[in-house]
Amino acid sequence: MQNAPELAIVGGGIVGLICALGLIDRGINVRVYEQAGGLRENGAGLAFTRNAVECLKLVSPLASEALKSVQTPTGDTTQPNDHLTWVDGFNQHDQNDPMFEPALFKLFVGANGFEGCHRAHLLEALWKRLPQGTVVFGKKLQTIHDDLHSDRVLLHFVDGSIAQANAVIGCDGIKSRTRALLLGPDHPASKPQYTHKLSYRALIPMEKAIAALGAQKALDQCMHIGPNRHLLHFPVADQKLLNVVAFNSDCDPWVDENGRLIAPATRQEVVDAFKDWNKPVRTITEMFPEVGEKWAVFDSYEHPVPFYSKGRVCLAGDSAHAAAPHHGAGAGAGVEDVLCLITAIDKALMLATPKTALTNAFSIYDGMRYERTQWLVESSHEVCEMYELDHPLTKGDMGKCKDEIEARSHKIWYFDYEEMLSQTLSAVDKLLGQ
Ligand code: FAD
Repeated sequence: MQNAPELAIVGGGIVGLICALGLIDRGINVRVYEQAGGLRENGAGLAFTRNAVECLKLVSPLASEALKSVQTPTGDTTQPNDHLTWVDGFNQHDQNDPMFEPALFKLFVGANGFEGCHRAHLLEALWKRLPQGTVVFGKKLQTIHDDLHSDRVLLHFVDGSIAQANAVIGCDGIKSRTRALLLGPDHPASKPQYTHKLSYRALIPMEKAIAALGAQKALDQCMHIGPNRHLLHFPVADQKLLNVVAFNSDCDPWVDENGRLIAPATRQEVVDAFKDWNKPVRTITEMFPEVGEKWAVFDSYEHPVPFYSKGRVCLAGDSAHAAAPHHGAGAGAGVEDVLCLITAIDKALMLATPKTALTNAFSIYDGMRYERTQWLVESSHEVCEMYELDHPLTKGDMGKCKDEIEARSHKIWYFDYEEMLSQTLSAVDKLLGQ
């Protein structure tokens, strides 16, 4: 749209690209500045709750179509109700059938309650649906100048180039530079903290997984819990791959001189970590690739980000609320953020000049999203302790564990996004309407 305001999005990850599609749908010009030289995602799976899928439809039909083109229901598609199953992955349950693991509890999530995809496939599908040139690669943000006397905000990149926009949305992930600029480099929340958990991921060909585990287990979405560790798996890529994430505890600090959160890892490390666990878990770890990678899990639990917007700069997705992945809901929360943010921006631009509209829309978005997403950071940290039988509320009591996990999961899955939208629109009206 000519003369329409232009927004700069820092970071071309999942949340940044979804946000770009949503803004373009509303006639707003967008540029995404991504530090990498091209699309960059790791070879791991990602699952969206039904709620996040519904929010995505409202953000942008194109973004929703992109997800549809790569997603697979993560549970058994022959069942009318999809469920997540928690099993005791530590103890051996039947000497005659070492692969037997009785369910500790199940949570029903409705028909195709979770949709899984390969992260790299989703990122590419989103990118393909953006107008050519929307994403500018090789642009690592260094500084932002939000001079209140000017109509434009300036973005300075590490390569010395400068861009300008009416406002900036920082979707630059867990180590967000935008967050550090908003809070100041010495603020404890400007950097995420190591949770002393390492995650090892694998995508195992489904034929191999079925041969080793049986179809019922391989096609199910299953969380194996036990002391100090846990392991989750679900099918992705049209049920052709089994996505596995194994979490191990680590007493040491995470040291990487280049600030990376990923390091090389071997299958043997995962096998050794779970060597005392039961046969099904050991069988899964033995299918990991001989050489792979491990991810250090960081979050902002210890030092919560105090606010998500200042002037014409705001944060969305992991840059605002870096949650450990134990609820599997970080990206979903990012989609909710985008829906709230673009709704506020769209409405505000109808009522005020871009500068006033964007500043107010950002502040309303901050107020609407803060509590829920900070709760997600806290709860993601706490459910990990529950899976590992170490949370003071639940310890090894499976009844209490189920109640807690169910209540927390339902808060995520059954979020009333329509209410969020209605409150967002009222807040914009109240602030900027006649
Ligand atoms: P990112 O995906 O991290 O993207 C940030 C982008 O910004 C990157 O492309 C980066 O290169 C770029 N960038 C960074 N700094 C700069 C800079 N200075 N200048 C320019 N560009 C920059 N969530 C779910 O909803 N469901 C799941 O099943 C799930 N499983 C998970 C499993 C694991 C093991 C982990 C670790 C996380 C999981 N999550 C899940 C969480 C989810 O991965 C994140 O919430 C999501 O990827 C956040 O997206 P984002 O776009 O905010 O950040």
